[in-house]
Amino acid sequence: MYAKRLDNLPPYLFAQIDALKAQKRAEGVDVIDLGVGDPDLPTPKHIVDSLCEAARDPSTHHYPDYTGMIEYREAVSSWYKNRFGVDLDPKTEVLALIGSKEGIAHVSEAFVNPGEYVLATDPGYPVYKTSTLFAEGKLYELALCEDNNYLPDLESIPSDVLKKAKLMFLGYPNNPTAATAPLSFFGEVVEFAKENNIVVVHDNAYSEIAFDGYKAPSFMQADGAKEVGMEMHSLSKTYNMTGWRIGMAVGGAEVIAGLGRVKTNVDSGAFNAIQRAGITALTSSQKCVGEACSIYQKRRDTLVSGLRSLGFDVRSPKATFYVWMKVNDSMIFAEKMLNEAGIVVTPGVGFGRNGNGYVRFAITRDIERINEAIERMKEVEF
Ligand SMILES: *Cc1c(COP(=O)(O)O)cnc(C)c1O
Repeated sequence: MYAKRLDNLPPYLFAQIDALKAQKRAEGVDVIDLGVGDPDLPTPKHIVDSLCEAARDPSTHHYPDYTGMIEYREAVSSWYKNRFGVDLDPKTEVLALIGSKEGIAHVSEAFVNPGEYVLATDPGYPVYKTSTLFAEGKLYELALCEDNNYLPDLESIPSDVLKKAKLMFLGYPNNPTAATAPLSFFGEVVEFAKENNIVVVHDNAYSEIAFDGYKAPSFMQADGAKEVGMEMHSLSKTYNMTGWRIGMAVGGAEVIAGLGRVKTNVDSGAFNAIQRAGITALTSSQKCVGEACSIYQKRRDTLVSGLRSLGFDVRSPKATFYVWMKVNDSMIFAEKMLNEAGIVVTPGVGFGRNGNGYVRFAITRDIERINEAIERMKEVEF
């Protein structure tokens, strides 16, 4: 019944964990879920209030503009200016997205012909691969390894792949490895993309979730970035708005127009009332973001010191709400955690084969639950 395209999708390893989690819950186990990359904290009140007010205004009830309300695009532009010092023309260099996942899933359609290569980090956000496969592109995995600080080795890409490469996906602060990239690396990516005629899509969903004073750069800060690509960004992680589905693509007018042409033909934009709430989020005080980060930072410290006290070798991340930890076998470790401690973690291999040997903890549960998880782990023989 189904198209071959669906058979080509990578196996959904998370389904196995989900089934096991449901089974444990049915058995009455008090499961601690450190698997989900979804903030447990609520959306700040001023943003919710803004949506409620906007939803009562009938002028928001119609089809939105395909590219997003101009006021929303202006808010994105001024946020980028304030945060990164980047100038963006709201009319041509900003596009509203129905969450950045949507933009990532569609962008390959605009640039990749069947059989052309897409370079995507592995482990990586699974949608990079899905996007490639739906456009009938070929995937070339850019391995992210601990000894290279989880940055891809661009020199190692074979020349026959490079000749047919069209698009590259990467994202720092990184999900799942929690690695960060210096701005100088983005500069190298721009040069590499120019030399090889590759469109770069940088996924910056976690730039605002950072600790110890670290400030993540934007790809758009690199000289020449607009000539080669775009950045996907989102309100989801910054303002605890994952369920709202609102994000943005920013970049050179030509690449933004390409993605826009796909979107005009497949969706009808983000609900105007949500865009208005998005404007409120981007233009109001950013105090709520700092408060969320200090909560995550305390949780990170609790989890990392707890894991180290159990003898695990784990890096303390500067950004994202993930902790990436080396284990022997991802699946075996994750199943053991669930069966013997009632704790859900995500097996690294679910993000690509180079993720095998790692698991990802999400610090999207409170300190009490994280402490309880460490207590339970003390009883398990790993
Ligand atoms: C959460 C996430 C996104 C998508 O967020 P949206 O809710 O679709 O905006 C994109 N990339 C990465 C790496 C993520 O973790």
